[in-house]
Amino acid sequence: METKSDYLIIGSGIAGLSLALKASQVGTVTIVTKKDKMDASTNFAQGGIASVLDPKDSFDLHIADTIESGAGLCNEEVVRMVVTNGPDMIRELISLGVNFSHNKKHAEKLDLTREGGHSRRRIVHTEDLTGQEVERSLIQNVERNKNITIYENHMAIDLITTSKSIKRGISTNETHETCWGAYILDINTGQVKTFLAKVTVIATGGAGKVYLYTTNPDIATGDGVAIGYRAGANVANMEFVQFHPTCLYHPMAKNFLISESVRGEGGRLIDKRGNHFMERYHPLKDLALRDIVARSIDAELKKSGDKCVYLDISHRPKDFIKTRFPNIYKRCLGLSIDITQKPIPVVPAAHYMCGGLLTDKHCRTNITNLYAIGEVACTGLHGANRLASNSLIEALVFAKSAFEDSAKMISDRGVYKFPPVPMWDTGSATDSDESVVVSHNWDEVRSTMWSYVGIVMTNKRLVRAKRRIELIQQEIKDYYWDFIITRDLLELRNLATVAELIITSATMRKESRGLHYNLDYPERDDKNWRHDTVI
Ligand SMILES: Cc1cc2nc3c(=O)[nH]c(=O)nc-3n(C[C@H](O)[C@H](O)[C@H](O)COP(=O)(O)OP(=O)(O)OC[C@H]3O[C@@H](n4cnc5c(N)ncnc54)[C@H](O)[C@@H]3O)c2cc1C
Repeated sequence: METKSDYLIIGSGIAGLSLALKASQVGTVTIVTKKDKMDASTNFAQGGIASVLDPKDSFDLHIADTIESGAGLCNEEVVRMVVTNGPDMIRELISLGVNFSHNKKHAEKLDLTREGGHSRRRIVHTEDLTGQEVERSLIQNVERNKNITIYENHMAIDLITTSKSIKRGISTNETHETCWGAYILDINTGQVKTFLAKVTVIATGGAGKVYLYTTNPDIATGDGVAIGYRAGANVANMEFVQFHPTCLYHPMAKNFLISESVRGEGGRLIDKRGNHFMERYHPLKDLALRDIVARSIDAELKKSGDKCVYLDISHRPKDFIKTRFPNIYKRCLGLSIDITQKPIPVVPAAHYMCGGLLTDKHCRTNITNLYAIGEVACTGLHGANRLASNSLIEALVFAKSAFEDSAKMISDRGVYKFPPVPMWDTGSATDSDESVVVSHNWDEVRSTMWSYVGIVMTNKRLVRAKRRIELIQQEIKDYYWDFIITRDLLELRNLATVAELIITSATMRKESRGLHYNLDYPERDDKNWRHDTVI
């Protein structure tokens, strides 16, 4: 089966949906998403969206905070572009029906909160359910739009490119590697379909699932990075993985984040004995940047042998806690932790991928007609460490930029004839009766990465991880060609590729900077390493 449209957008998070709404003004848009349309990291974002909206704040301050966080690797032109477009993006969301929380004293104003690394209150939020509100509203607008078709349970496998056609004996006129769409697995039927498009956009989010402990939902398996990399797209800065310092530690709580704003509103980190420890690590104490807080907790846990530390907000008024953090309050209470009375057990967990498919400021990759937006892209905004709440705004600004760049091409092309493309070939693959191989390798990739390529690395640990991942990749390769593909197998193949890319990038960078911390090179080395790691 073959489907044709002007745009093929892979992913239904904030990046994919906001681009789709814009793109629908100039052409037909197909969105494919591998599970339910709401299954996206966007839906889990609690803290909010950073933007300069307070007269006491300024673009220059937001720019300075972002650059300070990025530890020498931010692209200043990109930072300026994101920050200065921020307020318009917030107004656009409001016009689409997003209900942000308003200030209790001045009801006409948006409520602005503060998070680690921000010198001013500038985080717009909807209580502690910002992402859910944004996702709800974007989906509602997409569903009303006649030019957009959304396919749930459709998973992108690989891109359709010039080289792929040539390999299969189809001649093309393109001299530069060009993308014409993607092969998509219909999860419900098992059929692989061909989706052709003038513009293909990867908006598949992050890769937190490559680690054993993560705040990310199950969809975050780094598919976009792996798919792009296999097609020849450049990948950058994969060593910069952000670990969120405070994920709820409880056997019944899978991936539940305790928002940074809890510390922004006065929450203090303490050990089992009630001792506040952040003052020993940084002058900003609990409001230090995420990487510093995560490493401090890691050091405390290694020293004490404890399983978790605690985040205490119980000194703030009960009503304030309940109205400011209703979701966290409810979730913890469901696990018998009343956060108005006692501290919350927390551990660090993989949270955000600063690296990804390398793009320019128009979101173009090095493959013609292939764009990347949102967490999957490495745009130059975050550098070596993302500033809290800068990712949702990045996705919105870059969706606008991708639209402006690609719309010209869509209009110029008029009636477009797609070149002949090869159909998906299942070869002699059969159904597997041993899915244990897939689940075992899933676990092994994730624990290897957690143990050896986590918050603190060493050269030795990187070598060990490399060896193990290579072995797993060989097994996956054998398995891949023998058996009919499933979502689990595709995700495993992508996870292993992302693990390989993280290990390779981390091994290349012989210094410590931002989120990358190697005990064998503990110092930052601006002379040799003030540049991106590109694979
Ligand atoms: C718990 C949590 C809290 C956060 N809090 C904040 C915050 O307060 N502020 C902030 O700025 N950022 C926050 N972030 C980060 C932010 O939410 C993400 O960076 C952002 O939502 C990413 O948006 P996206 O559109 O790029 O990807 P996502 O929202 O993750 O969407 C990716 C989409 O791609 C689909 N997909 C993936 N692979 C495939 C495939 N192979 N085929 C088809 N579809 C595919 C997925 O199903 C999904 O629909 C948080 C993240 C988490 C996990």
